[in-house]
Amino acid sequence: MTMQQPNLSASIDPVKLDRLAEVAVKVGLQLQPGQDLFLTAPVAALPLVRRIAEHAYKAGAGLVTPILSDEEVTLARYRSGADASFDRAPGWLYEGAAKAFAGNTARLAIVGDNPMLLAGQDPAKVARANKANSLAYQPALEKIVGFDVNWNIVAYPGSAWAAQVFPGEPADVAVARLADAIFQASRVDVDDPVAAWGAHNAGLRRRTQWLNEQRFHALHFSGPGTDLTVGLADGHAWQGGASTAKNGVTCNPNIPTEEVFTTPHARRVDGHVSSTKPLSYQGTLIDDIAVRFEAGRIVEAKAARGEEVLNKVLDTDEGARRLGEVALVPHSSPISKSGLLFFNTLFDENAACHIALGQCYSKCFVDGASLSPEQIAAQGGNKSLIHIDWMIGSGEIDIDGVHADGRRVPVFRKGEWA
Ligand code: ZN
Ligand code: ZN
Repeated sequence: MTMQQPNLSASIDPVKLDRLAEVAVKVGLQLQPGQDLFLTAPVAALPLVRRIAEHAYKAGAGLVTPILSDEEVTLARYRSGADASFDRAPGWLYEGAAKAFAGNTARLAIVGDNPMLLAGQDPAKVARANKANSLAYQPALEKIVGFDVNWNIVAYPGSAWAAQVFPGEPADVAVARLADAIFQASRVDVDDPVAAWGAHNAGLRRRTQWLNEQRFHALHFSGPGTDLTVGLADGHAWQGGASTAKNGVTCNPNIPTEEVFTTPHARRVDGHVSSTKPLSYQGTLIDDIAVRFEAGRIVEAKAARGEEVLNKVLDTDEGARRLGEVALVPHSSPISKSGLLFFNTLFDENAACHIALGQCYSKCFVDGASLSPEQIAAQGGNKSLIHIDWMIGSGEIDIDGVHADGRRVPVFRKGEWA
């Protein structure tokens, strides 16, 4: 039996929600006059979907097409779906999305689902469904990771998610608190959020410029449970904040964002590293991860919780055991200071330095847009169906930049920019 979810959108400040919609359209997407928008969201996020549609059309959008998902529909599949259905995915939808992106349609995703939705389900079925979905999604995902068009992700405080972040609070209080945390992290709790984003983007640009001038050969991370050398890909480029898609539009793909990030060398990562925050991966919490790398490949992986799911993820394909991203975030970032664990990568990855298993971003190479997949692979870029960020930063992590001649430059000390 299920109960009708009470309407909790009344607990969410409508002014700030409208500003979030405005920021998503003007900063996150920088939606262009005449440009179409493809949007996905959980049904609970309908109030934000409607505000975004309003701002998008005011900005001159061609056509806004939303597709809504529902947690109960997802669970119905696990309860009653035939076994063979777990190897299926709506390929026709993703082919349509790929076609839309090829025609310069912008992409917006609203996240806000229950992070533990699939926690009680058979991990084998979850893995099969994820793999089928990743495979079917590939034609569309290629255009997103290749940054063909402007895209953006924002968050809406779904009630199950809010209950996870604020356990023990009444539902309306939890939703209101998560909404405030989202608004603060997304910089819409100020009068002119578009200007605030301009200043924030300028700060991130100064960091990426310094790192790009340094041209480090590798980064060395040291701290409790961590002694890891992450080789950087040949011709890597640091990115952060606003960046320009191949269609010429400068957008902010993630709202919030605090990271600067680049591409590691898929065959030059060595040592061991421990996670500093739990990883919420499609309904399962994976905690206390400890892995060892040899020549770029994870050869040993343990987790205090969710180890079975972790190992299934690592077996997705060859690239799933190698890194596709390394990102630097100071321990004093606003999201880190909030002290909250959001159980959502969009937020948690902005609380700490992190690495990502799987697919790299071509935009994290010098002239990345003009490189073929073969060239990217030759320069050390990784390829995989997955891209999963997990946190390795804390107030105790030191990072050195290592030049090709062995010269070392302090980059982080005790979790802060040196
Ligand atoms: Zn990242
Ligand atoms: Zn990432």
